[in-house]
Amino acid sequence: MQSFKVSEKMESSNLFEKEQRYFFHTYKRLSLDIERGEGCYLIDKSGKRYLDFFGGLAVNALGYNHPKVNEAIQSQVQKYIHLSNYYVQEPQVKLAERLIQVSGYKRLFFSNSGTEAIEGAFKLAKKWGKSKGKTELFGLSNSFHGRTMGALSLTERPKYREGYEPFLQGVSHLEFNDVDALRKNVNEKTLGVVLEVIQGEGGINVITQEYADELRSLQKKFGFLIIADEIQSGIGRTGKFFGFEHFRLHPDIVVVAKALGGGLPLGAFLGKEKVEEVFTYGVHGTTFGGNPVACAAGRVVLDEILKNDLMRAASGIGDAIKSGAQQLQKEFPGVIREIRGFGCMIGIELTVDGQPVVDEMQRRGVLINCTNTNVLRLLPPYIIQPEHCDILLHELREVLSTLEKK
Ligand SMILES: *Cc1c(COP(=O)(O)O)cnc(C)c1O
Repeated sequence: MQSFKVSEKMESSNLFEKEQRYFFHTYKRLSLDIERGEGCYLIDKSGKRYLDFFGGLAVNALGYNHPKVNEAIQSQVQKYIHLSNYYVQEPQVKLAERLIQVSGYKRLFFSNSGTEAIEGAFKLAKKWGKSKGKTELFGLSNSFHGRTMGALSLTERPKYREGYEPFLQGVSHLEFNDVDALRKNVNEKTLGVVLEVIQGEGGINVITQEYADELRSLQKKFGFLIIADEIQSGIGRTGKFFGFEHFRLHPDIVVVAKALGGGLPLGAFLGKEKVEEVFTYGVHGTTFGGNPVACAAGRVVLDEILKNDLMRAASGIGDAIKSGAQQLQKEFPGVIREIRGFGCMIGIELTVDGQPVVDEMQRRGVLINCTNTNVLRLLPPYIIQPEHCDILLHELREVLSTLEKK
């Protein structure tokens, strides 16, 4: 064996160089070397502070270094980190009870990630439809449901799919918000429609009430399943526990992840009465899913959201950002095309490439994301304050005014 030495500290330049050398090049990393996080700020190794509207891509609902999350994790680590799903585990049961209570769903399954939860929901739907002759599943255009082959079959964005063909049989795609396409394509053989009511990666695209209503009435007629991917929009992010509550939609199956585990990997899918008896012992499972440490953290996430009325807070944040952004749109009508979303999930569509804006904002100490090339995406923790929104809007104004001049 080769002898090796790993030094305690690594210079930033070294870190980036090694990252390039050792990893498959799947991630274009930000040019940041973060030391730690505190509330809604990240602090890099030089001590520079960044206000975080990126939020760990919709994971860090309570921000960083939350004392109660940390306490729950430490306390569970000292009891046990893993037992396996052969055991009943108190942290799992407690989180399950809370999730069932707040969601009104009947049963759930815990996974490690979003894409695995989608796979599980997919399997649940398939088994449900088998005896009924329902086999055709629809995803929507511009959707994102994850990277594993089932989830990728449902995902529509070419960027994620190219080169991975063939995909699962029985899955096809309908145009987002196209009521006619929906009417023309669903029938008795339809197993289900899978959708993000507010598309995340796709650029914060929101379904219309008309589309939601049509989906419901067609479901009444044909009896297919509505499956909501709330991995990004769920757990209170949009000001309601699930995004679909904005549209009076009642999906049969809902999928969550991202914010659920307080930063630890955790996902879940939940089902209504209609599907509660579909799974029997052994037909689905996971080694790590529902990890007790992650579940203990998840319980704190839900308790904090509910106790501190963070959904209402998220809603207020969204209103503040949107009205500020609308003001900016008046000032820069040539740059801002549209503002969309709810709560802590806001998209600002530009007429120009968003990456230079993101880079300049970062230089000014504010982290935002850009998706679908020209949509600035804001996914702040729900604990962000009005003064933070003011900072965001102030810096954005500065950056946009330099763009306008160019
Ligand atoms: C992030 C995301 C996924 C995938 O979740 P992973 O945990 O990355 O597997 C699926 N659907 C939506 C809407 C997402 O935002």
